[in-house]
Amino acid sequence: MSDMYRDLILEHHRYPHNFGTLDPHDVSQEEHNPLCGDRIRLDLRIVDGKITEVAFSGKGCAVSQASASMLTDELIGMDIERARQYGKDDLLDLIGLPLDKNPVRLKCALLSLKALKVGVYRYLGQQLDADDLD
Ligand code: ZN
Repeated sequence: MSDMYRDLILEHHRYPHNFGTLDPHDVSQEEHNPLCGDRIRLDLRIVDGKITEVAFSGKGCAVSQASASMLTDELIGMDIERARQYGKDDLLDLIGLPLDKNPVRLKCALLSLKALKVGVYRYLGQQLDADDLD
């Protein structure tokens, strides 16, 4: 892991963006990663098909929490349809980590994405293809 990416992860872990919960919310989804003990709850407020507010809470390793923090910044103002299509590669690009060779870390990094996808699909009343996430 390069120093730049490691520093970014540590910075987001120490000072997470959009940390907290939303009440009321349109989506609230909690997921957990038993491999590492990470938990992420993601709350969204959706107006006219756009994500207008985002908050996350949780605990766990630096990668899981920093990934959630970076994802929340990305989600504000995003169309719900774009969020539905947001994928693994998008998230890995966003956090800038080459995690494809480390499956345990990958689960940590993708936990926030799982909360997003499960929550958004549920909001839209659609069935999520679990292959999307593994
Ligand atoms: Zn973890």
